[in-house]
Amino acid sequence: MNHVLVVGAGPAGLAAACAARGRGARVTLMDASDYLGGQYWRHLPEERPSSNETALHHGWSTFTAMRERLESDAGCEIATGAQVWAIDQVRPADDRQTGAPASVHVLVGPADGSARRGLTVRPDAIIFATGAHDRTLPFPGWDLPGVFTAGAAQAFAKGERLAVGERVVVGGAGPFLLPVAASLAQTGATVLGVYEASRFAGLVRGWLPRPWQLLGASKKAVELLGYAGNHVRHRIPYRLGHAVVAAHGTDRVEAVTVARVDVNWSPIPGTERRIPTDAVCVGHGFTPRLELPIATGCAIGAGHFVTVDDRQQSSIAAVYAAGEITGIGGVDAALAEGRIAGHCAAGGDLRDRELREAVRARRTFTGFAARIDAAHGIRPGWTDWITDETIVCRCEEVPYGRLRTTGRATCSSGLRSLKLSTRAGLGICQGRVCGRTVEELLGGSLDRVGGRLIDGVSIDRRPIAVPLRIGELAGFDAERQVRAPWNRPQSDEPSATSPE
Ligand SMILES: Cc1cc2nc3c(=O)[nH]c(=O)nc-3n(C[C@H](O)[C@H](O)[C@H](O)COP(=O)(O)OP(=O)(O)OC[C@H]3O[C@@H](n4cnc5c(N)ncnc54)[C@H](O)[C@@H]3O)c2cc1C
Repeated sequence: MNHVLVVGAGPAGLAAACAARGRGARVTLMDASDYLGGQYWRHLPEERPSSNETALHHGWSTFTAMRERLESDAGCEIATGAQVWAIDQVRPADDRQTGAPASVHVLVGPADGSARRGLTVRPDAIIFATGAHDRTLPFPGWDLPGVFTAGAAQAFAKGERLAVGERVVVGGAGPFLLPVAASLAQTGATVLGVYEASRFAGLVRGWLPRPWQLLGASKKAVELLGYAGNHVRHRIPYRLGHAVVAAHGTDRVEAVTVARVDVNWSPIPGTERRIPTDAVCVGHGFTPRLELPIATGCAIGAGHFVTVDDRQQSSIAAVYAAGEITGIGGVDAALAEGRIAGHCAAGGDLRDRELREAVRARRTFTGFAARIDAAHGIRPGWTDWITDETIVCRCEEVPYGRLRTTGRATCSSGLRSLKLSTRAGLGICQGRVCGRTVEELLGGSLDRVGGRLIDGVSIDRRPIAVPLRIGELAGFDAERQVRAPWNRPQSDEPSATSPE
C-alpha cells in the first residue's frame, strides 16, 4: 500500500491526509505543534477546553470532522510535537523520474525538552503543507516590548484567549488585519484603530476586476460582513491609506505614530498623529515556510512559492505541496489544494469525480491570492519610514545604516556574503523575520550604486529546518531509521528508537 507522509496539520495538511486515506493510502500526518489545526484552527489545549471554541473560528465543524475522521482511523498515524528538521535531497539522476522517496528526519517530543526521539521516515510520497510565517516590515521602535506581529496576537487570542494589551493599535496590510482586530476585541482589548496601508483606489484595482470570478466565494463576503459588524459593534475605526510608522517608549511601547501614506506607501509629511497605546500588532502579509521543499530540491517560482502542477505535484515526482507554501490564498484555497494533493499523491487522478468540487474551489480561491497581492501587496515607498538607526534584523540588532554601508563598501552581489558581513539573518530566527526585508533593502540600495543583488532562494535555504540541540545533531544516525507508522507499530516494522 502507498505510504503518504503529510508534513503540517493545518487546513491543507488535514485535507490532504483525509483525501489520501480516501484513496486507501497509508498516511502519516506530522506537525510540530502539540495539536492539529495549524494557524487557522489554533485552539485552547485539550486539558483546558473552551465552552465556546467557535467564537473565534470560522469552519470549526470542518476542522473537527477532519480531526475525528483521522484520529479514529487506524490507517492514519498522527504525530504531534514532531518537527521535521531535515530532509535528504532526492537525487535527480535516479529518483526524480521514478518518484522514489526522500529520507525525512524528525524529532518527536517537547521542543524545549532534552529527550526528543529521533526518527527517519522513507515514505512513497510526501506532501508539504508547512504554511507561512508573518511578514512584518520594520519601523523605528518595532523592537520595543509591546510590538507584536499580527499573527502572534492572533495566536495568543486563539491559543490562550489572551489579548496582547488593553489598548491596542492594529496596522499593516491585508484582510488578515480584520480577524486580528475581531479576536482582540473578543478577548477584551480596546482596539484603537485598524490602519491599512493600501488606499481605496488600490483595493478597488485589486479586488474588483472580473467580479464574476468571486461568485463562488460568497461565503467570504459573509465573513467580511461579520468583521464589518464587529468593527461597528466595538467602534473600531478602520482607516485606509494609513501606516504605523514609529513606536515610542522607554522600556516598552507607550505610543505609536500613524501617518497617511501615498499610493506607494510613502508617508505623507505633516499627516503624522501620535496615539497613546500599550500594544501594537503589525502584519504586512505572509512568507511561505520553504525550508523543506528547498532541501528536497523542489523548484521555487518567481514569487517565492513552491511551483506545482495541476495535481499539486512539485518539480520532483512524488513530492507535493499544498496551502500557503504555494501561494497566500487563505483557508479555502489551502483546503482545496490539500484535497487535490492528497488524492493525487495516493494514486488518484485529477479527473476523478471526488475531486470535482476541490478543483472548482481551487480555481475560485487561488484567484484570491492574486487579488490579495494586487490590493494589499507591499509597495516600495515603505522604506521612507525607516532611518539609518532603525533595527532591521532584531536577533543580531543590525540597523539599516550598517546594512547599507556594508553593502556598498563590499560591492556585494550575493545575499550570502552580505549575510556574513552584516550578520543580518544569522540570529536565532535565521532570517525568518527579516530575510525578505533584507533582500529588498539591499537589492534596492545596491541597485542605486550600480551593484546587483542576485538571490534565488538563499534567504529561505536552511538545511537544518528548525532549531535543534547540538546533542541531538551529534546523536543523529540515519541508518537507525524507523519507518512510519510508529505510533501503532506493525509486526513487520521496527519500533521507535532514540539516538542517545
Ligand atoms: C501566526 C498566523 C496566524 C494566522 N491566523 C489566521 C486567522 O486567524 N485567520 C485566517 O484567515 N488566516 C490566518 N492565518 C493565515 C492562515 O495560516 C492560512 O489561511 C491557513 O491556515 C493556511 O493553511 P496551511 O495549512 O497552508 O498552513 P498552516 O495552517 O500554517 O499549517 C502549517 C502547519 O505546518 C506545521 N509545520 C511547519 N513546519 C513544520 C516542520 N518543519 N515540521 C513539522 N510541522 C511543521 C506548522 O506547525 C503548522 O501547524 C494565520 C497565519 C499565521 C502565520
